[in-house]
Amino acid sequence: MSYTILTGDRATGSLHLGHYVGSLRQRVELQHHHQQTVMVADLQGLTDNGSNPQKISANVLNVVADYLAVGIDPAKTTLCLQSALPALAELTMYYLNLVTVARLERNPTVKSEIIEKDFSRSLPAGFLIYPVSQAADITAFGATHVPVGEDQLPMLEQTNEIVRRFNRIVDREVLVECQPLLSRVGRLPGLDGQGKMSKSRGNTIMLGASADEVHKAVMSMFTDPNHLNVSDPGQVEGNMVFTYLDAFCEDAALVAQLKDHYRQGGLGDVKIKRLLEDCLQTLLEPIRTRRAEFSADKGELMRILREGSQRANQVTQGTLAQVKSALGLDFFALD
Ligand code: ATP
Ligand code: MG
Repeated sequence: MSYTILTGDRATGSLHLGHYVGSLRQRVELQHHHQQTVMVADLQGLTDNGSNPQKISANVLNVVADYLAVGIDPAKTTLCLQSALPALAELTMYYLNLVTVARLERNPTVKSEIIEKDFSRSLPAGFLIYPVSQAADITAFGATHVPVGEDQLPMLEQTNEIVRRFNRIVDREVLVECQPLLSRVGRLPGLDGQGKMSKSRGNTIMLGASADEVHKAVMSMFTDPNHLNVSDPGQVEGNMVFTYLDAFCEDAALVAQLKDHYRQGGLGDVKIKRLLEDCLQTLLEPIRTRRAEFSADKGELMRILREGSQRANQVTQGTLAQVKSALGLDFFALD
């Protein structure tokens, strides 16, 4: 069965290993058999960067370069830009009437982000409602499946609530419910071990990181603080190096064997870090090279994004027309 897929990333910075295992890796596979659209979410990036639009505009093409570098193919996946699709903003306005402020405040991801960003007294209205704008993105493409990291599950739940409410009100199945496609690693912790790897927290290894940056990041990673001597038994749970080996080392049997050895004692931190570094260098080396090549031709990146956005515009305008018609608000269209 072919899925209709929409997914995307905020243009708040270049992409990192969390994106890779949480979503990008899946997208590269999915594009071969499904109808996939990937969106650079610049408007959503603005919701917590309202006074710093340069940060968002400067990162749009960085994100596109990351997509191409990991193997997203514009001949198979439609790559588009959120701000180029006015239907998304219009749909958001309609959907906002179907959601209460209390419901938005209860969204667990929004709730924790508000605390983390220290927005208590200065919460931008656009930030509070970003789950609604995400619902507009997903439904505008008629997405049935959304490859995301775990932090996005409450957004999909909220999207489906809007879909059901809208369809009930207009008494027709206009909008389509979606389901998440969670990867094996739904949430990669950041280098600080404090929460998920995230652009905003600066606890990342970027996809374009140099070999030296990768080396330094791995060597300074937390292991088991009580594993002082090589001969001591070590703890695997919560040990960042093993968490990353689980995510990035393709030889699962080897990782299982190393875990046993580490638990028993006799396996040093440097050894497991070297293995992790090898896995990451092998993964990132070709991505880094391709990324540099793509970044050198901004005109080509722009052409790809523009062409995909043109196609996406048709699709999203179509959904908007259906929504307006279902609401009885399709009186006339201006040229
Ligand atoms: P920001 O800090 O600006 O919010 P971010 O690093 O959280 O940036 P997003 O653009 O918000 O990245 O997320 C894009 C997609 O990548 C989402 O599907 C999200 O779930 C996924 N993702 C982001 N970080 C991780 C992570 N550490 N582990 C797994 N998936 C992730
Ligand atoms: Mg995020």
